[in-house]
Amino acid sequence: MDFGIAGKKALVCAASKGLGKGCAMALAGEGVELVILARGKEALEATAAEIRQATGAKVATVVCDITTEEGRKAALAACPEPDILVNNAGGPPPGDFREWDRAAWIKAIDANMLTPIELIRRTVDGMIARRFGRVVNITSSAVKAPIDILGLSNGARTGLTGFVAGLARKTVRHNVTINNLLPGAMDTDRLRTTIEVMAKNRNLSVDAVRAERAAAIPAGRFGTSDEFGAACAYLCSAQASYVTGQNFLIDGGAYPGTF
Ligand code: NAD
Repeated sequence: MDFGIAGKKALVCAASKGLGKGCAMALAGEGVELVILARGKEALEATAAEIRQATGAKVATVVCDITTEEGRKAALAACPEPDILVNNAGGPPPGDFREWDRAAWIKAIDANMLTPIELIRRTVDGMIARRFGRVVNITSSAVKAPIDILGLSNGARTGLTGFVAGLARKTVRHNVTINNLLPGAMDTDRLRTTIEVMAKNRNLSVDAVRAERAAAIPAGRFGTSDEFGAACAYLCSAQASYVTGQNFLIDGGAYPGTF
């Protein structure tokens, strides 16, 4: 299926690795022009080269921390009028809520709630004026089923989800949709690091913990960045113009609810 977005411009945040990279690759495969950003130059340039090689798409890069005002300015200077915005940043650390002071909460809320809202604020009116816009926020399955040690993520991302639920109903009339993609366990660096920590804590091998975690997922495995990126490309497609304010789990069936 042709998604009808060739030639559109996308700003894809936190895209040198993992899920952001999967989204960037899938959009490039649809002929979208990309600006991708991440904090580390080396990995970002390597990813840009890989995407150009694989798809022939135009890919510009911005080395920045998107959770800072300086980073957001640099990103929007490189891509002032995106048709597609993929919001993403690293997730907050795990822990016990008794250890999190106000500064820890503000940092999490800044990264996983206020940064995407700020990027939407600065791009959505242009999308409305051009009568095309697609915003995809990478959130987490923790929005639907909280993970006890990830309280900062549960809280900050649910705040974003609540905000988006209201705004997404205002913009869709102008062919500007806003949706959230909720990853479950996806095979990225972040998951690999978590598994290494779990293996060390439990004095088990990494392979044993990986196998145990994968077996607990109805699909019997972790998801891939490519699978995630394909879902993102669909949400950004011309065909998805009647889909807004939704929360899509990509979790291999891990969430056990009927709805
Ligand atoms: P990853 O560690 O594989 O990749 C993260 C990417 O984001 C890298 O390119 C990194 O350079 C970039 N990045 C991180 N913080 C940034 C910042 N402040 N500014 C600019 N770039 C930044 O992670 P991932 O697995 O792709 O996860 C992406 C998001 O999805 C995270 O918020 C994560 O918490 C969330 N998530 C992931 C999973 C999973 O299983 N992988 C599950 C639920 C939620």
